[in-house]
Amino acid sequence: MFAFKTEKNLEGRLGRTGVIKTPHGEIKTPAFIPVGTKASVKGVLPDSMAELGAQAILANAYHLYLQPGSEVIDEAGGLSKFMNWDKPTFTDSGGFQVMSLGAGFKKVIAMTEDLEPEEVVAHKKDRLAKVDDDGVTFKSHLDGSEHRFTPEISMQVQHQLGADIMFAFDELTTLMDTKNYQIKSLERTRRWAIRCLAEHSRLTKARKEKPYQALFAVIQGAQHEDLRRKAAKDLSEMEEDGIKFDGFGIGGAVDKNMMREILGWVNQELPEDKPRHFLGIGEPEDLFIGVENGADTFDCVSASRQARTSSVYTDRGRFNVSNAPYKRDFEPIQAGCNCYTCKNYSRAYICHLFRAKEMVAATLATIHNEFFIINLVNQMRTAIEKNEFFEFKTEFLGRYLENKSN
Ligand SMILES: [Zn+2]
Repeated sequence: MFAFKTEKNLEGRLGRTGVIKTPHGEIKTPAFIPVGTKASVKGVLPDSMAELGAQAILANAYHLYLQPGSEVIDEAGGLSKFMNWDKPTFTDSGGFQVMSLGAGFKKVIAMTEDLEPEEVVAHKKDRLAKVDDDGVTFKSHLDGSEHRFTPEISMQVQHQLGADIMFAFDELTTLMDTKNYQIKSLERTRRWAIRCLAEHSRLTKARKEKPYQALFAVIQGAQHEDLRRKAAKDLSEMEEDGIKFDGFGIGGAVDKNMMREILGWVNQELPEDKPRHFLGIGEPEDLFIGVENGADTFDCVSASRQARTSSVYTDRGRFNVSNAPYKRDFEPIQAGCNCYTCKNYSRAYICHLFRAKEMVAATLATIHNEFFIINLVNQMRTAIEKNEFFEFKTEFLGRYLENKSN
């Protein structure tokens, strides 16, 4: 029902290729998983996502719980059927979105009520989420209504959503939190992980007519080696009702300059025979670090979000296709690109669509960007198979980063 097999190891590093088997099909790894937050990759139909090479889609439990409601998706026959995507799906636990409300999205702040004054980073912010040892109470970003997520509720919601791969409910911390707070938070996440496993076990038995859903634990610990190693060790050994986690997410606050070290610490502790998902990573230079250091799958909203602002990837870096110089540029976004957009449309046409505010502009740009990132990770896989990873990396990044300052 769910399995992972590694195929080839990257010499001298933790990286590897492999295959994840799920009830909705296989994912060849390393792989980039596009994000369809609300059960839709914005502006692009599932058929196009399949055609451009997406192997799976990751949706968001928090958003789908609020709208349309996880019970609606359960009634529809699960996420895959609901959105007409006949391939594997992931859902994240909702923890990240819920706790981001603690401070307003992407702002840095601690969220619990019982912090010592010196532990509170930004105390004047209005908090929409409050964390306690049992769970998180939050207000909907849609209508301000109050809700509560606990490990059990997150598991119930994710079982109703029916994705092939789910994530355990964890507490999100930030790099601004003190070490003392990170220690407390990590212990809370550990206890929540036990509760997630127990509830997952109960729900798997109660819903045994449904396809098996795998559960990944999420490793936190911010920038601290001792905490990251402890979390990886604790979660890989954790067993409840005779079941263990099927895989692992590497999450939380990651200082970009320390990505390599953090992946190294965590992946040295994790079992080799289980898949590792690096949450929220999607820029080319970060994907190389991720693959090299043993992450198998990645997700990120960046490719589609950038596309909607007319920023498109090329092997010489990103550029803004709606800018004036492209009004009469009849070349594709990227010469030689095999995506539907580049095979059929010019920069001039896409530039025009953005300037005229035509909806298809975002569709065409998203198709190219998602293809570009998916294909880049696929090329890394091929390069590992052929023992050419480091040559490929040097060649690609040399070209890609050359113009980055522009
Ligand atoms: Zn293209």
